[in-house]
Amino acid sequence: MLRELVDRWVRPEIRALNAYHVPDARGYIKLDAMENPYPWPPELVEQWLTALRSVSLNRYPDPASSRLKTRLRTTMGVPDAMGLLLGNGSDELIQMIAMAVAGPGRSILVPEPAFAMYRIIATLVGMDYVGVPLDTTFDIDVDAMAAALQAHKPALVFLAHPNNPTGNQFSIERIERVIEMAPGLVVVDEAYAAFARHSFMDALGRYDNLLVLRTVSKMGLAGLRLGLLAGPACWLDEFDKVRLPYNINVLTQASAEFALTHREVLDGQTARIREDRERLFKALGDLPGVQPFPSDANFVLFRVPAGRAAAVFEGLKSHGVLIKNLSVSGGALADCLRVTVGAPEENQAFLAALNEVLRACC
Ligand SMILES: *Cc1c(COP(=O)(O)O)cnc(C)c1O
Repeated sequence: MLRELVDRWVRPEIRALNAYHVPDARGYIKLDAMENPYPWPPELVEQWLTALRSVSLNRYPDPASSRLKTRLRTTMGVPDAMGLLLGNGSDELIQMIAMAVAGPGRSILVPEPAFAMYRIIATLVGMDYVGVPLDTTFDIDVDAMAAALQAHKPALVFLAHPNNPTGNQFSIERIERVIEMAPGLVVVDEAYAAFARHSFMDALGRYDNLLVLRTVSKMGLAGLRLGLLAGPACWLDEFDKVRLPYNINVLTQASAEFALTHREVLDGQTARIREDRERLFKALGDLPGVQPFPSDANFVLFRVPAGRAAAVFEGLKSHGVLIKNLSVSGGALADCLRVTVGAPEENQAFLAALNEVLRACC
């Protein structure tokens, strides 16, 4: 009875989904989710707690997050002429954009392999999703994109730059071609900007259909849930109507403002992660049968001998190291796993475990 009632009223495409699965990481060296591994120095924690004392939990947050926005403009280098919209993580902004443009026959187009939320959110808002394969170097295939843009006329194109899960930045000229060819919006998702060589933030305003998405998650504040969308106010004013009031809570507003005024701490951590990424990349390449892919982010995608990804993943887990097995998605990601750059001792533990697991299984 209950089951029938649920099946009758919940949309079939929602029933067909699986809830976003986050593995239980307790007890593991956690290198699966692109988190910054470093805590703050104790005196900074004390200052932060002091700042939180003046937060009024009984009052609604500033609906416009004005002070935080001012701070974010500086930290993220948002051009003065551009608007800014905040989300409860950049995931919420992806959802807000999609909700604003969704409609019968409308689609989201994404080069693949891609960040999973683009497809999930397309499904949630009832849009078609079109994946266009990247080329063999994980760069944009311009001809394939041109054909798909022509065929589907997507309302939205998402380009993650650097891309997750491949780790690389697409070539700038190819992204520009896509922006020029796209009939609708192109959102350049710069979640990994802190680890990257290039950004489209300065290109805002040069194209009517370009928006840039950022988050504080990967730079060390994943627990706060704060993302930002920058671009022409004309677009953002519309998306702001989709935003639920007070989507950025008082603790997030106060904490993010505090953290970003001490940005040098986060910058020091991300610089360290970039250096360690290079060490990790080299060490992975030295392991027999392992092919790491160059990364501009805080993780490294790597391929293991054919058919061995699941065994490597489970073997690492039994050594207490949790990473991400992407081989299950098949295609270009067959035999591939993704490891987040951790603290030096975590990376060492991962490499030592991987070495042993490869000997045993491959
Ligand atoms: C992690 C990630 C996000 C989501 O970031 P949140 O701000 O934590 O929601 C968005 N885009 C890409 C490509 C990511 O990898």
